[in-house]
Amino acid sequence: MTALVRARDVRRDYPLEREAVHALRGVSLEIEKGEYLAIVGPSGCGKSSLLNLLGAIDAPTSGTVEIEGRNVGSLGDREVTEFRLRHIGFVFQRFYLLPILSACENVELPMAEAGVPAAERRQRSEELLRYVDLGDRARHRPSQLSGGEQQRVAIARALANRPSLLLADEPTGELDARTGQEIISLFGRLNADGTTVVVVTHDESLARAARRVVHMRDGQIVQDEVPGG
Ligand code: ADP
Ligand code: MG
Repeated sequence: MTALVRARDVRRDYPLEREAVHALRGVSLEIEKGEYLAIVGPSGCGKSSLLNLLGAIDAPTSGTVEIEGRNVGSLGDREVTEFRLRHIGFVFQRFYLLPILSACENVELPMAEAGVPAAERRQRSEELLRYVDLGDRARHRPSQLSGGEQQRVAIARALANRPSLLLADEPTGELDARTGQEIISLFGRLNADGTTVVVVTHDESLARAARRVVHMRDGQIVQDEVPGG
């Protein structure tokens, strides 16, 4: 059985003027289809660096990352962009919605990039907004939505092209605890419906909701546990 994601001894150095930052110092990690994984650890330990590699947003200095059996490091720029568009959904702490577009149009964007016809885009976008309980906010702009609602739009957008992998970097970081809970239960529902979910978080309740927790320290994985499993 092939893992959905397989990182092999990845290192990521950020070259700086005097000396490089060694953000990842040899990380190996396999993620199977259907998993719900949290990556936790102190600030600066390399969580975002790792997530960016798992999502083919960034390439390792050495080592390899395979997603669905493809070595993403061997793809050219255009191919990797196309691969990301079709296989990976990414959710950020700061939402990054386009302010001049409605919720519905924001969710449609990745479908437009993937060449999905307009009518189908609109229909799927409305479906996704209903899935995240925002069916009645489709015409709202981001500024007319609360933080939690904006994050739900961002999650719907991440799901637009039916990615096999949903990655989220501190998705509750900007939200109050109660709103954060809504996002946490949404990830749980998504995972139960079959999406593979990987979240980077400081948030204890978000980490507890995951079925597997990988602990990082100083650019390495120091513990990989299945709480209660
Ligand atoms: P975390 O997400 O766990 O807080 P990061 O992966 O963002 O950690 O960062 C790991 C280390 O790499 C930190 O020391 C950080 O300062 C450094 N780093 C991250 N991104 C860059 C970058 N683009 N250039 C230089 N250093 C970076
Ligand atoms: Mg980070």
